[in-house]
Amino acid sequence: MEGEAGERVDLTLLRRHLGAAILAVLLCSAGLLPAPPPVSAAPGVPRVSDIRAWTNEIYTRVAIDTGDEVSWQASTLRADPARGLPPRIFIDIRGAGIRDEIRSKPVEVRNGLLRQVRAGRFDRDTVRVVIDLERESTYRVFALPGPFRIIVDIDGAGEIPVLPNSPGPAAAGPSSEDPATVPPAIPPSAAPPTPSADPAASSAPPAIPPPVESSRVVASHPSQARKPRVRVMIDPGHGGKDPGAIGPTGLKEKDVVLEIGRRIREKLSRFGEFDVRMTRDEDVFIPLEERTAMANKGGADIFVSLHINASRNRRAEGFSTYVLSRGASNREDLELAARENGVPLHKLQGVKFIIDDMFTGARKNESLRLAKTVNDAVVRHVSTRYPGAQSIGLKQAPFYVLVGARMTAVLVEASFISNAREEARLRDPSCLDGIADGVVEAIRYYGQNGILAHSDY
Ligand SMILES: [Zn+2]
Repeated sequence: MEGEAGERVDLTLLRRHLGAAILAVLLCSAGLLPAPPPVSAAPGVPRVSDIRAWTNEIYTRVAIDTGDEVSWQASTLRADPARGLPPRIFIDIRGAGIRDEIRSKPVEVRNGLLRQVRAGRFDRDTVRVVIDLERESTYRVFALPGPFRIIVDIDGAGEIPVLPNSPGPAAAGPSSEDPATVPPAIPPSAAPPTPSADPAASSAPPAIPPPVESSRVVASHPSQARKPRVRVMIDPGHGGKDPGAIGPTGLKEKDVVLEIGRRIREKLSRFGEFDVRMTRDEDVFIPLEERTAMANKGGADIFVSLHINASRNRRAEGFSTYVLSRGASNREDLELAARENGVPLHKLQGVKFIIDDMFTGARKNESLRLAKTVNDAVVRHVSTRYPGAQSIGLKQAPFYVLVGARMTAVLVEASFISNAREEARLRDPSCLDGIADGVVEAIRYYGQNGILAHSDY
């Protein structure tokens, strides 16, 4: 099993409340530890190459990029007022190096939930990433493969039951206080003001959220822009270096879904009650975890990820709409999810550990309802232009882009680009209009019938 440890998607901690496992180890403070010897970056050694974060005052997602798979463990420390230290979540990454620029530059935020993110060497083999919080919060940690990244979702809203500790495969020995080599938390009195450079933080967010740059934390304040309208995040899949599926005559999924997304935004924006944004409005690559984070950070009520299906069976056809689940009912759906997740099929297995806990039943019911409404409406609208358009229907599969979404979230597979007839149809603007009209009709129906859950905002 050791050989497989690095290939699993591990959920080390589930909703653990800060402070559940701390105390005695505090005695091993940073000042008492010997300075760790430097570790040079060796070829083939995983390395913390980037730390990305998306945050507002009730939600934060931090992504730690290591490229290659690593063994890791997450834990927490309670606030230590005497030393000016806030509550902390820290991730110990074993056998990894760290890029110098990350080690020397803690990222300051101070938005009421996240204070800063910092990283450094804890000992010869361990890099520690420390997330300084403004207040104790529940959180979840999981990893995604291809490339390997550790995701920390911090939930600053609502009451979530405290679960017992469940150390992951990397658990070994007691945790100790922040290492001397990790920059200490800055006492509140010495803190710079909270940066808020993100245009999306304004009361009138742009329709197109800018892509988040690496090593940068973007803060927003949802309370300043409490929604008067239903917020919709449209997510055209793929983009940039990732073309998605490609049809027999070369049509690319990334281009089709972007065009559909733009049409949905244009059509839906005509109705005053919708605030529509897109995860991308150009041909750029955006990691899956970032798309979800953009929707969460923006306080979206509805998340619609747009894709075009493909199959080795060139006769496969029809429209389907998915919600997140741990598994799938057949191999085709699993293969589809693996392809959309950008991982080999065998790496998909571990995701079940994440989804089971993170996806609540109430939201799933809403998502199922929206998915069915979307699929029915899309098929109906396309059928007016192309009689005989097929419906595969409502389905479920483990799509990474839906993991951790805090809102009603669906993923549309708008016919098969691998089918020559459907590929030709996808070149027809009236077909793209039909798909967009179907999604718009479903979202309007969904919004008007009060199915939305506004509990988070
Ligand atoms: Zn796709």
